[in-house]
Amino acid sequence: LVSRKKKPEDTIVSLKGENIGDGKQHFVFGPCSVESYEQVATVAKAMKEKGLKLLRGGAYKPRTSPYDFQGLGVEGLKILKRVADEFDMAVISEIVNPADIELACDYIDVIQIGARNMQNFELLKAAGAVNKPILLKRGLAATIEEFINAAEYIMAQGNGQIILCERGIRTYERATRNTLDISAVPILKKETHLPVMVDVTHSTGRRDLLLPCAKAAIAIGADGVMAEVHPDPAVALSDSQQQMDLKQFDEFYNQLLASNFVR
Ligand code: PEP
Ligand code: MN
Repeated sequence: LVSRKKKPEDTIVSLKGENIGDGKQHFVFGPCSVESYEQVATVAKAMKEKGLKLLRGGAYKPRTSPYDFQGLGVEGLKILKRVADEFDMAVISEIVNPADIELACDYIDVIQIGARNMQNFELLKAAGAVNKPILLKRGLAATIEEFINAAEYIMAQGNGQIILCERGIRTYERATRNTLDISAVPILKKETHLPVMVDVTHSTGRRDLLLPCAKAAIAIGADGVMAEVHPDPAVALSDSQQQMDLKQFDEFYNQLLASNFVR
């Protein structure tokens, strides 16, 4: 169902007047984890000043260590909803448990399925059964074929509103947190009719690489870019090494817009 052979036209996912897949670029920013209302609202305000409408933030965090911050859970979803209503934004947040998918629909606009859960088939089926856009991230070690099949699981249940997100894969290279598979973008655009975004934060794990990788993503045909922004990354409860502060965010976005890649 996700194959371009079955449906030649691009799928468009509409959120707050932004049509992802329309050939223009769309941007998702926000903190790694939802930590407090003030923290999310501070980032949302900075985004609003730039006319940006797609806000991210994790309420359920799939952390490598069980002793690390696990997220605020439903309290985090409530904070996201409050900020989204106040600033008229759409929010994207990861859900990790199939049992939480329906509940999440009351609070968020896009359900993210994270890299670690790309082949959690019960979660994919639950996401396919609701009428909400899904942002599906590529698994840490998933082939493009496996990634496309994960999207197929969602669409097979009836939900065709899917955004694919390349977020880097695990290789032997340690200079970056993951290896951004930039060629996945045109391959996914060719093989499927779904919009494709690139998460420059989790793929690189390096602030100094966010801008060049975002330019590359857009140049190669991505429908959008995701990056993490936190009011004070040094004290962030997750991913403190790679989130941008508000000044870096301002520079990143301005330079990206000035780069002539963005339409
Ligand atoms: C995230 O976007 O918050 C996240 C955990 O990303 P990934 O699943 O790609 O690691
Ligand atoms: Mn993160």
